Amino acid sequence: MNKQFFAFSRSPNSPVTDQELLDDLKKVSDFVGTLKATQKIYNEHGSFNASTVLRRFQTWNKALELAKLEVSNISNYSDEELFKNILVLWEHSGRQPRRSQLSKPPSCISQNPYVRRFGSWLSALEAFVEFANEKQLLQNNSSKFDNKHKTGRDINLRLRAKILIRDNCICKMCGTSPAKNSDVVLHVDHVIPYSKGGETIEKNLQTLCMTCNIGKSNVL
Ligand SMILES: [Zn+2]
Repeated sequence: MNKQFFAFSRSPNSPVTDQELLDDLKKVSDFVGTLKATQKIYNEHGSFNASTVLRRFQTWNKALELAKLEVSNISNYSDEELFKNILVLWEHSGRQPRRSQLSKPPSCISQNPYVRRFGSWLSALEAFVEFANEKQLLQNNSSKFDNKHKTGRDINLRLRAKILIRDNCICKMCGTSPAKNSDVVLHVDHVIPYSKGGETIEKNLQTLCMTCNIGKSNVL
């Protein structure tokens, strides 16, 4: 029997193999280049569905790991969240934060997502300063809100930082924190939802982990 190496055939109805899913994920990641290979991007460019990948590998990160892609590519941290954490540290120490500060409270994010996103901690700081200056200009004009509210819906960076410091980067519902588990992503959330008249003020804001926050919005 002369079996050709890498020869591959399967019946049209047989389910996609793990390797095919991973190869496709890799293909999409190469295609989008520096963009994050998120589930959304995968659904746009992939040959299969992100839900199939998730069913097969349980988590998106796991699939990325197996595809030998950087897990940080799909880190749930937005630039704003990365910057928010810098601001927390900056305010906490009253000076430009050092990289070593990332590994302990009140930091909510380890150094890896920064290095992977910006190349180095210093570049991340540079990007933050640029962002912070720009953000303030935008914030002044973005406070459109209905007359039922005294405040806008958006929680600005400074307010987020304040709430995270106040709550010690601990989820108010389940008590988890990035200090205990580096997979934990924290959100700042309205206690009384803005849509139900809640205001964007300190006493109506709380720190929640992403899991509790998603669970909460399903209940409400
Ligand atoms: Zn929680």
